[in-house]
Amino acid sequence: MVTTQPTTLPTAPSQADVRRLGEALHERSDEVRAQTVARAADSGAPLGPPFVRESFERICVLATTTVADWLSGGRPEDGLDAGHEAWQIFGQLAAQRAASLHEVTRRCLYWRDCVNDVLRDSASQLGVPKEVLAQARAMVQVTLDVTLVKMCEEFESERQRTDEELARRQEELAFMATHDPLTGLPNRTLILDRGEQMVVRSRRHRNPVAALSIDVDDFKGINDSLGRAAGDEILRTLTRRLDGVLRGSDGLARVGGDEFVVIADDLALSAGPELVAERLLEAIKEPFHVGDTAVRVTASIGIATGARARVEDLLRDADIAMYRAKWDGKDRYVIFESGMQDVEQTQRELESDLRHALANDEFFLAYQPTFDLHEMNPKGMEALLRWRHAERGVVQPGDFIPVLEQTDMIREVGRWVLEQACAQGACWREQGHELGIAVNVSARQLDRDDLLGEVRDALSVSGLEPGALTLEITETALMRNVEETARRLGAIKQLGVHIAIDDFGTGYSSLAHLQRFPVDSLKIDRSFIAQLTANPEGETLMRTLVQLGKALSIETLAEGIEQQRELTLLREQDCDSGQGFLFARPLDADDVDGFLREWSAARVAITTASEPARQT
Ligand code: C2E
Ligand code: MG
Ligand code: MG
Repeated sequence: MVTTQPTTLPTAPSQADVRRLGEALHERSDEVRAQTVARAADSGAPLGPPFVRESFERICVLATTTVADWLSGGRPEDGLDAGHEAWQIFGQLAAQRAASLHEVTRRCLYWRDCVNDVLRDSASQLGVPKEVLAQARAMVQVTLDVTLVKMCEEFESERQRTDEELARRQEELAFMATHDPLTGLPNRTLILDRGEQMVVRSRRHRNPVAALSIDVDDFKGINDSLGRAAGDEILRTLTRRLDGVLRGSDGLARVGGDEFVVIADDLALSAGPELVAERLLEAIKEPFHVGDTAVRVTASIGIATGARARVEDLLRDADIAMYRAKWDGKDRYVIFESGMQDVEQTQRELESDLRHALANDEFFLAYQPTFDLHEMNPKGMEALLRWRHAERGVVQPGDFIPVLEQTDMIREVGRWVLEQACAQGACWREQGHELGIAVNVSARQLDRDDLLGEVRDALSVSGLEPGALTLEITETALMRNVEETARRLGAIKQLGVHIAIDDFGTGYSSLAHLQRFPVDSLKIDRSFIAQLTANPEGETLMRTLVQLGKALSIETLAEGIEQQRELTLLREQDCDSGQGFLFARPLDADDVDGFLREWSAARVAITTASEPARQT
């Protein structure tokens, strides 16, 4: 008789053993977290800022707990709740563009491998059979699969939501950045753009193009005697009248408080710019009714016509003619003639004086503090260039920096500013003031690779920590040469230096472009802060800008805070930082220490006065 050995059938894993493995995993969940973090670090992929790392660690712990609970006998549905929190964290990371989907997926796989390692080790310690280990691993894989699918869904929907929101904000922003909120007319940026197209067109078709610069006479007097609201009303009515005189194809813009510009082409068909100017002057002369008062207003108009390389040249000449009209007695128009270019004469003198200014030690820096609006503490100093001229006294940057830029002298002067500011910043920090230093960088400096070396040298000579230095770059400068600028700023950023966009909102801000620069801070232009209290749109716009910063995880800093009310609104809107005459005007370097001491003594008063209104 032949007896056969019974074949060993695969035994179903004992639930008790699976449970023991689950409990072991529970106890070792911190080990899984640590190993996953270490593996991700070894992979060399960037770990991102601290909050991204913390999010990943949180997800890791949640996922390990979920799978351990399941192994220990919990229902798989219960795991969904915990899973939900993890997917939401993924969603937030996606929304803030803090991590790529690829990177997140990779980390999920590291997590699975680490869990499996711990399970294998626990199985051998507990002596559970390999079928049990296999089942546990299958459950880990299911958890991973569900997580990956849900995470992709969450990523997708969050990205879509934020993309839509950003696109909407961008549209709002683009409109508001190119229009004057009081009259709804195009602003300077937009008219320059349209005017440029008209100049190109007129060159092609040989049609004359003309610019008219219109400035209301003594408008300040109207504002002072009747009040700002009446002044605004007059400007709105005036806009309607100007618009009524012009043809649809003419471009009308408000370029300053009481300054308007008209650019017209195709004038050969009509009666020419002189007649347009006469009609405009007539329309302005009609009395304006403010309450019971009839107010008479006049204006001076300058006209420039003919071929120019750029629309700016045309506008500059129209301005020169407009000043001549004022000089000649106001309420009239004057046509530009080449002999009027005395402005250029002054410019040439300025240029020749500037050539000696650096060698003669005529430049110096003033420092204007910036403040943390949550803590109401000074957090940094912006270095602002000044020129002490032998005859003119102290000249403000608006009057000479354009000349430095045109002549390229700005490179040398810019390097000097960088060195001085870093040395001064290091000195204040040695004295115990926790201050950052911000330096304005001109578009010209960004045109060359030299800037990186200059920043590095200024840091190493002064001993200033790179993290304490911020370079301020205007939006327009950034957008001049996107590719090259992004590369140069990327390299500077690698040093640890911060990058801020200055006068944000005044250029054509393209968010798509903005995201290509390693930006830490948006300095929102003063014009937006001035509008905050002027009209409701001003508040909405400011909120949009602050929210935009938050969506992109970029600090927002409001420039030019002059009134307590502006500060209060900005704090309510959760704007991060601020700067302005309300806090301090630019200071001499020697006065900074005293200012900081006085501030810490007096800050209690200002903080209480501007505490945001509490929600009840
Ligand atoms: P910015 O970088 O936007 O500097 C802020 C300007 O706003 C400063 O004028 C400051 O005095 C002024 N400001 C600050 N708070 C208020 C306020 O509450 N109300 C008003 N009305 N104005 C306020 P500043 O010093 O005349 O500088 C003008 C511009 O010149 C700067 O604008 C910057 O673009 C340029 N600039 C200054 N220094 C340098 C420099 O070293 N290099 C370069 N490239 N540009 C510089
Ligand atoms: Mg600045
Ligand atoms: Mg600015």
